[in-house]
Amino acid sequence: MKDIIIIGAGPAGITAGIYAARAGKSSLILEGECFGGQIVTAPLVENYPSVKIIKGYELASNMVEQAMELGVEMEMDRVHDIVKNEDGIITVFGENEKYSARAVIIASGAKNKKMGIPREDALLGSGISYCALCDGAFFRNKEVAVVGGGNSALEEAIFLTAYCPKVYLIHRRAEFRAEQKLVEEFRAKPNAVFVLDSEITELLGDNKLEGVKVRNKVSQEITQLEFEGLFVAIGKVPDNGYLANKLALDESGYIIAGEDCKTSIEGVFVAGDCRTKTVRQLTTATADGAIASVAACAYCN
Ligand code: NAP
Repeated sequence: MKDIIIIGAGPAGITAGIYAARAGKSSLILEGECFGGQIVTAPLVENYPSVKIIKGYELASNMVEQAMELGVEMEMDRVHDIVKNEDGIITVFGENEKYSARAVIIASGAKNKKMGIPREDALLGSGISYCALCDGAFFRNKEVAVVGGGNSALEEAIFLTAYCPKVYLIHRRAEFRAEQKLVEEFRAKPNAVFVLDSEITELLGDNKLEGVKVRNKVSQEITQLEFEGLFVAIGKVPDNGYLANKLALDESGYIIAGEDCKTSIEGVFVAGDCRTKTVRQLTTATADGAIASVAACAYCN
């Protein structure tokens, strides 16, 4: 049995592990997909204090290495249930094994949101991707598009301008959620093309993406754009469905908790993007990891 089981090895979960280790508590981080979390796919991180500029996967690797050197254990296993027993011990059910702990920190982040357009799944890997850093190289010297208007979309679009002769940025509004600095950086690229106030209505191509049809929401005009790669960066959704009957979730599926990271079950804490909050950033994820871990360590005493 561990003192603390942490679900998710992103920045929130890893920070929680580091704080637990330094407090002398045994901990195990369970990860279902990728050690390092979403930050692994960020081309560049430029807003994490003290690290002026770093590739996302390098920052993630540093975090994983730091936690492991402190003795935090990590295992690949996807959690599908947690149960608090009458004696207060919490059982965590993974696909491979079940685990016991005195406290649990849920830091499972969020997964990519889908566009909900017919054949989106069928064309995944055949022109559609959710990660420019992972798949961008396949589209070297080819025209591509990014859909979305947040930081992720702008970062992916900027990244792709280095490899692709033309990069469309398709966004459903004319204003951006993304930081102004990123919008201006993309605008300054000679191969950047904004397609604003526009939504994708159709994916073109049979077995391989050949382009899209977009509708301009102001003029209602439908235009056809031809390109080979479409990078979808329209936000994230939490992956908390399995907790629906156990913990209080908001209407979007985020675990309801305040800045103290305490959930509706005593001994179960939540940290990072899967928690209800207004700012989902690397800095706020690591802050949550620290707060949840200190609270979990105190709960275990
Ligand atoms: P986001 O900020 O939620 O932005 C999602 C974008 O996709 C929005 O522009 C949204 O349009 C658009 N969108 C949503 N659903 C859509 C749909 N069905 N069809 C078309 N467009 C749709 O998501 P994100 O960019 O992935 O970022 C997630 C969080 O991580 C944010 O808090 C962000 O700041 C953070 N992040 C930070 C950094 C950084 O600091 N360097 C990098 C990446 C991500 P509307 O604007 O019209 O709603």
